[in-house]
Amino acid sequence: MILPPVETLGARPVQTAGAARRFTAATRRPFATCGPRVWVTVTCEAGVEEPPHPATPAATTATRAMTVTTRDMLWCSSPADFLPAVARASYGSAMSTVPDTDAIEAQTQRIGRELAAALPSASRHPVRAVDTRAMELASSNQELKAALFRFVDVAPACHSLDDLARHLVGFLAEVDDAPVPISAAMRIAGTKAGRAALGAAAAGGVRHMAHRFIVGETLSAAGGVLGGLWERGVASSVDLLGEATVTASEADAYAARCSSALGDLSAIARRWPGRPALERDSAGPLPRANVSVKVSALTPLLRPDSPELGRDDAARRLVPLLRTARELGAHLHIDMESLDSREAVLSLVLELLSRPEFSRGPSAGLVLQAYLRDSTETLGAILEFARSSARTPPLVVRLVKGAYWDHELVQSQQHGWSTPVYESKADCDRNFEVLTARLLDAGPVLRVAIASHNLRSVSHAIAYNRATGGLDEDLEIQVLRGLGDELQDALATHALRVRTYCPVGNMVAGMAYLVRRLLENTSNDSFLQAQAQGVALDQLLAAP
Ligand SMILES: Cc1cc2nc3c(=O)[nH]c(=O)nc-3n(C[C@H](O)[C@H](O)[C@H](O)COP(=O)(O)OP(=O)(O)OC[C@H]3O[C@@H](n4cnc5c(N)ncnc54)[C@H](O)[C@@H]3O)c2cc1C
Repeated sequence: MILPPVETLGARPVQTAGAARRFTAATRRPFATCGPRVWVTVTCEAGVEEPPHPATPAATTATRAMTVTTRDMLWCSSPADFLPAVARASYGSAMSTVPDTDAIEAQTQRIGRELAAALPSASRHPVRAVDTRAMELASSNQELKAALFRFVDVAPACHSLDDLARHLVGFLAEVDDAPVPISAAMRIAGTKAGRAALGAAAAGGVRHMAHRFIVGETLSAAGGVLGGLWERGVASSVDLLGEATVTASEADAYAARCSSALGDLSAIARRWPGRPALERDSAGPLPRANVSVKVSALTPLLRPDSPELGRDDAARRLVPLLRTARELGAHLHIDMESLDSREAVLSLVLELLSRPEFSRGPSAGLVLQAYLRDSTETLGAILEFARSSARTPPLVVRLVKGAYWDHELVQSQQHGWSTPVYESKADCDRNFEVLTARLLDAGPVLRVAIASHNLRSVSHAIAYNRATGGLDEDLEIQVLRGLGDELQDALATHALRVRTYCPVGNMVAGMAYLVRRLLENTSNDSFLQAQAQGVALDQLLAAP
């Protein structure tokens, strides 16, 4: 059946059973290039009750995006029947639009196995194997883990090897049952020469760890790594290290660094060769230069008890960055931090992007954290914004689990509050899959980026997208430099769009980042930890 572009059907009135309702339909693309899934925006006339839809049962807005699957399309005997078919899908047979969960699960398993087979073997990465052993050692002993974190925290401030070794020995002395390699290291610290050797080894270890996660001290130093990734079919997002500023001048300096990074990165990226898969999806061109920023670094006034203060102060620095990104055709992504700043960050981003001056750019995005119990409501607010603003290019939503789990748990327990995060990893992973589906169901009003190193979470996103008729080019997978390198290569090998988050900055600025990554990597509930311990693929890919 050949259908004309939906715009030609847009003005057709539809009478449904019961009250007469009038809809207009529109889509971004003609059917011919849509693939099997067609996105239709159904707009109800003012004051008319909105039709229910299984994908977004709780939404209350007047405009709603609806998915029409192949099955619905088959009901159309002629192009003119298309809109009545939409009405039937939303009223009469809502269940026909619900995807087949068994098929999605089977696809998830298949994709997971294919990606696992493409992961480089540990033997090709001897240094990585040593890192993994060190992390295993740390995660097996909580006291040792705490001591090593304290050491990593102070290491950049140490002035000599002797100083480094003294700190290391001091922290390790608090570990009651130190494993054999650690006890041996402690013994050599009794002499000045021994301390110098231990200090050199420790400094080297910290530097090596930092280089695993941080691509360079400056953008020009990082340019080679970013260009190398691009050549191998991997896009990047640059994160300028530095968080939680305490003075206005620090915030000004961070904003100035971000502004120059946008310029420098755009200049560097202009020299990269063409990579069509990384530069376009069905909503249009994708910027090569992509920078992630933190609101806590753009203002010293971010406080949970007065979110407006931080939001307005950060806006003064974020607005010029958005203008610079628009002029350069770059993408600006706003990271999400701990829960106490979420309200300020969310309202800041949505308010700025609603302004008429930003309605046609730049490309911009925010982050949704699936570990939060109320993340569904946050997604509701984001969807409402995306549908009502109809901004181009579409807002990018990066779905993550959340990097501040320990912090949120401890903070809420200390204050006697109910925990805002899921306390079971399986609940968090299940919610991640539910949110993945809702984001992909939202259609072209959003661009979806799934940020995870968990093979199951990533495979489910790819499977859900395909099973509901989406195109691979409309789904981006994101990983962190140093944690997701193997997965990144496996995804690129399968011609899937992958973007690696690449921190740039010095070690002192990077310490908070480094400790968070180490915490994540040594957590007992971490997917990467389970994978490194050799847990069977069946278990790694099991539905949460
Ligand atoms: C490109 C990229 C950008 C990112 N940007 C951000 C950002 O802006 N803001 C942010 O907060 N995070 C961000 N993250 C980090 C992310 O939130 C995760 O911490 C990280 O990716 C680990 O999740 P995973 O799916 O890879 O691994 P998994 O091992 O599957 O999941 C680990 C995560 O599960 C959650 N978890 C662990 N234990 C439990 C438990 N007992 N109960 C419930 N939940 C638990 C935690 O969130 C933990 O980080 C980003 C990650 C990537 C890849």
